[in-house]
Amino acid sequence: MMATPGNADTAGRNTARVFFALWPDPDMRTALAGMGKHMHAQCGGRRTRAESIHITLAFVGEVGIERIAELQALAAQLQCAAFNFELARTGWWRHNHIAWVAPETVPQGLIDLASALQSRLKGAGFKVDERAYLPHVTLLRKADCPWAQAAMKPLRWTARNFVLVKSVTGENGSAYEIIGRWPLVSAL
Ligand code: ATP
Ligand code: MG
Repeated sequence: MMATPGNADTAGRNTARVFFALWPDPDMRTALAGMGKHMHAQCGGRRTRAESIHITLAFVGEVGIERIAELQALAAQLQCAAFNFELARTGWWRHNHIAWVAPETVPQGLIDLASALQSRLKGAGFKVDERAYLPHVTLLRKADCPWAQAAMKPLRWTARNFVLVKSVTGENGSAYEIIGRWPLVSAL
């Protein structure tokens, strides 16, 4: 189908690859980038750029850009609670050569937020990933780690908001642009 001028973004595309995520604050970003450096020394591969470090909550994939407002409206309606958790485990997946850090046990707040997004997305007719939710922070790609999993000095993350992100595929991996941010209901 031809893109109409009113329906294209600045790059002339009429679809975008989008996902919901938790984005680290500057201190957490620095701590995670440091962890990435440490793991890189052992595993090699390509490090995630500090500004790209995140935890995916719900992957939406390619959508018409006219539907982005719908995603933003859906996010604005969520009433999920803010939560704390710890990243306490580092690991490496042999099948995709990704090295990551993750919570030891997935906090209820994270499960609730990801499920709420998932069910709203489904209700609004977006395609959703039916696989079990496995929250993690990808720190290395194309890595070869000598271990599958290990404990790490826990990093405490306070999730006070979540974001909608546009992913633009480039020559050196994907670049992300935050296109919406919504607060979590805070009792913290
Ligand atoms: P690249 O694919 O260029 O190596 P990337 O995986 O970070 O980089 P995207 O593929 O756009 O970029 O993915 C954005 C985020 O969504 C990443 O956290 C990725 O792990 C996650 N993701 C990608 N595809 C899926 C999927 N089918 N289901 C669930 N999460 C996904
Ligand atoms: Mg990808």
